[in-house]
Amino acid sequence: MTRHAVIIVGGGPAGLMLASELALLDIGVAIVERRPSQDLQGSRAGGLHSRTIEVLDQRGIADRFVSQGQRHPAVHFHVPLDISELPSRHNYVLALWQNEFERILAERVAELAVPIYRGIEARDVSQHDDGVEVTLSDGSTLRSDYLVGCDGGRSVTRKAAGIAFPGWEPTTSWLIAEVATNEEPAWGFRHDAVGTHAIGKLDGGKRARIVLTEQRLETSTEPTLHEVSAALIAIYGTDYGIHDASWISRFTDMARQAETYRDRRVLLAGDAAHIHPPMGGQGLNLGVQDAVNLGWKLAQVIKRSSPDSLLDTYHAERHPVAARVLQNTLAQMALRRPDDRSKALGNILSELLRMREPRTHLGAMMSGLGVQYDLGEGHPLLGRRMPDLDLFTENGPQRLFTLLHQAHPVLLNLAEAGSLDAWKTRVRVVDAQSAATLELPTLGAVATPAAVLVRPDGYVAWVGEHSQQGLAEALSAWVGESASALR
Ligand SMILES: Cc1cc2nc3c(=O)[nH]c(=O)nc-3n(C[C@H](O)[C@H](O)[C@H](O)COP(=O)(O)OP(=O)(O)OC[C@H]3O[C@@H](n4cnc5c(N)ncnc54)[C@H](O)[C@@H]3O)c2cc1C
Repeated sequence: MTRHAVIIVGGGPAGLMLASELALLDIGVAIVERRPSQDLQGSRAGGLHSRTIEVLDQRGIADRFVSQGQRHPAVHFHVPLDISELPSRHNYVLALWQNEFERILAERVAELAVPIYRGIEARDVSQHDDGVEVTLSDGSTLRSDYLVGCDGGRSVTRKAAGIAFPGWEPTTSWLIAEVATNEEPAWGFRHDAVGTHAIGKLDGGKRARIVLTEQRLETSTEPTLHEVSAALIAIYGTDYGIHDASWISRFTDMARQAETYRDRRVLLAGDAAHIHPPMGGQGLNLGVQDAVNLGWKLAQVIKRSSPDSLLDTYHAERHPVAARVLQNTLAQMALRRPDDRSKALGNILSELLRMREPRTHLGAMMSGLGVQYDLGEGHPLLGRRMPDLDLFTENGPQRLFTLLHQAHPVLLNLAEAGSLDAWKTRVRVVDAQSAATLELPTLGAVATPAAVLVRPDGYVAWVGEHSQQGLAEALSAWVGESASALR
């Protein structure tokens, strides 16, 4: 029976990102993907947020995506929020359709020679003392040390593992369609007593992407062109002669989250772990960042440089992040209600969001730059993303993110050169100089500390100000005992 260290069920955004993280760290990973090719029906997600672009930049591949999209200065929470003041090299939203995103990421996965079992479905997943077995639609089985379900909202993996998926039932549904039209449609947004509707240009205006709020909650997942046509006539008085649909679907505001992201050797990431309405465009971004949190942890456990308990930190860190996204989408749904009381609330919020502090607070939240993992009390950097500082090293000027290209941890010494050399047997130490202060989203300027331990996902695990107190413990917790991280 074929065995891999890790099997990923589902090669969408989360699965592809996780595969590339694991392959970069020389872990034998394979993907099982139902679709016969990477082609995606419908354009789905429309953009990347700042933190997602940053994590791609940490691996040296952001330009591949940025060069293919368009930058916009605002995230959306009830109203557009300008984020160009946020301290990041990527303080914008990158408009890039999901099928483009997946195509570019799949190229990276191919470069890293990850095998993909395509056109085949995972039907069942069972756990044994020494691994996980997955039964495929052709009757064959594969084994692995760990299995990660990146198989979307209806995850077979989650169901087979018996992981509960509690949350909020839907209240509203939307029809979405990508079609050709005989007449020029009314491009843009339209608001009425039912809600907001939108018709946007696809392929330079040759085709249309239509999103219509439905009069009543509908939940069937396969609506017809006739339903879209009838809904258009009810709202616009015409269906613009729609035809030749390349995608018709329906989504709702249902929001659910897996009770646990881990059951022994089975883990969940992306939509398999959390679903929510698409307000603010956060789902794909969350999944990619789940993958970046999980990849290096799985690699360290498989290489036995860290204990299996490191994997519990994946749930501990990422579950609260998605729980907060679910909350912000519930709030955005409430603000979209077309009744007068909800409108009044929305108007007051709009007033507040003209002020700098509320705007940057929500901007940091929506862009993912505001995430802070609970790594205890201490310096404001602890548990936050390390900014992409301009460093001066013995090799000349260097951006901090370049130190993370290989997904290895780094102990950055910004004090006297050589003062952390004693730790070189445990972790890569880089002596550097940087500006006296650094800028953090919402917090503003913070004195640059003497040293930081940056994890492979770019989050700060330890900050040294006047001593090396706590560094040994942080290295044991996050880097592991073995020197394999030095490769
Ligand atoms: C209309 C709409 C607009 C959206 N807009 C945005 C946006 O602007 N920004 C944003 O961030 N997100 C947006 N999203 C959400 C985004 O599309 C999802 O969050 C994202 O696709 C999740 O990625 P994933 O890899 O977790 O899951 P998926 O993309 O669902 O990928 C799962 C993969 O697993 C495969 N699979 C499933 N079951 C099996 C099985 N049993 N065996 C083998 N393979 C299997 C599937 O074929 C698929 O390739 C939007 C979604 C919709 C519907």
